[in-house]
Amino acid sequence: MPASSSRRPRVHFRAHSTQGATSVSVTAGTDPVDQRLTLLHELAHWLAPVPRRRRGRVQHHDARFYEIAFDLYRRFDIPDADVLVHEGGRYPSALRHARTAGMPGAEDAWRARQDALRERASLRAPQRVLVAEHIVRLVRDGRWTRCATCGVRVVGPTLARLRRRSGRHILLSAG
Ligand SMILES: [Zn+2]
Ligand SMILES: [Zn+2]
Repeated sequence: MPASSSRRPRVHFRAHSTQGATSVSVTAGTDPVDQRLTLLHELAHWLAPVPRRRRGRVQHHDARFYEIAFDLYRRFDIPDADVLVHEGGRYPSALRHARTAGMPGAEDAWRARQDALRERASLRAPQRVLVAEHIVRLVRDGRWTRCATCGVRVVGPTLARLRRRSGRHILLSAG
């Protein structure tokens, strides 16, 4: 959306990562509450002390920043629900800070996001489960060899050794 993103305060793009700037331009110009939030967010950056570098990354949305930002949003009558939806959608760490600040609805929004993250993670990687000790039984799985009991992939020297003589898997968490 080049037309609407060009109306954004230019400093905002410099202040943020490419990722942040991209998500800003997606919602730009469509929602007056969102526009006000964006301007107040930017104002909070002007008011907040310059963030310290931690582990090489600038924490520009730290607790101090959100203390100032949430105060501005309140003073300019941005409903908490809108703060959680817009700010939380754009900068997920906002939910954690809103929760700490005791913003109404933040606890639910934060929990919903945690659930979504967990769900996404469980879709990405198979659920890790604890399996009781067992004798490894090798089975082919496409180009891989797995243990039939726990499903763990067996490769390299371990595979060579298990082909020579049987072995056991001891209470391992299997992927
Ligand atoms: Zn920001
Ligand atoms: Zn196994």
